[in-house]
Amino acid sequence: MRHQIHFGSKQIDFTLEYQDRKSLGIKVRPDSSVQVLAPSDSMEKEVFRKVRAKGYWILKQIAHFDSFRPATPPRRYISGETHLYLGRQYKLKVIADTENIVKAYRGQLLVYATDTSPKAVEIQLHQWYRQRALIIFDELLDELLPKFRKYKIAKPILSIRSMTKRWGSCTPGGKILLNLELIKAPKGSIEYVMIHELCHLVYHSHTKAFFDLQTRILPDCKKWKDRLEYILA
Ligand SMILES: [Zn+2]
Repeated sequence: MRHQIHFGSKQIDFTLEYQDRKSLGIKVRPDSSVQVLAPSDSMEKEVFRKVRAKGYWILKQIAHFDSFRPATPPRRYISGETHLYLGRQYKLKVIADTENIVKAYRGQLLVYATDTSPKAVEIQLHQWYRQRALIIFDELLDELLPKFRKYKIAKPILSIRSMTKRWGSCTPGGKILLNLELIKAPKGSIEYVMIHELCHLVYHSHTKAFFDLQTRILPDCKKWKDRLEYILA
C-alpha cells in the first residue's frame, strides 16, 4: 500500500507492509524509495506516528542516495566538445582513420575512427571508457584493500555498469558494482565511492560505526564526495 506523510516542507512517500515481526522497520532503498514494515497487529495511526518520528533520518538517507545520482548533460560526440576523464576536461577530436583508436593526450581526446558518425564515436568512446575503468578501478581496489586488512574482507568481485541512479553498490556476498561514469571523476572521488562500498562490507548500514570507519580510512572523504557532485552534476 502506498502512503505519504508530510515532514516539514517535504513529503515522504512510502510503501507499508504488515509482517509477522516485533518492531517497525524502515528501509530507504538506493532509488530513494521508502519501505515500511510493520508488525501485523499494529495500528495504522501508530505506524504513521513512528514514521514521522523518523522523518529526519529518512530524509537524510534519501539525500545520501540522491548525492550518488549522476546527471550528465547530453553529448553530441563531435569535435570540439568537452569530455571528462579522471576529473580532467578533454577536448574531443574526431579523426577519420583506417583503425579505431582512442587516446587521451595533452588535453585532447583523440578518436581515430573508421566511422566518424556521432553514434559510432559514442560507441567507441564508451568502449574506451569501459576499458580504462576496468583497469583503473581494479588498480585502485588493490591499493585500497590493505587498508581493510584488519577486517579480513576478501577481494570483492568488481563489476562496472552504466547507471543513472547511483555511483556504486555492494552485496553482502562481496560484490561491488561501480558506475562506469565514475571514470570521469577524479581518482580521489573514485576512491571515495570504493571506500564507501568497502566499508559496507564491514558495516551494512549507515551507522555511526560505518561513518567512523569511512572517515578513518579517508579523512577528507567529504571533499571527494563534494567533488563528485560538482564534476558530474
Ligand atoms: Zn552507503
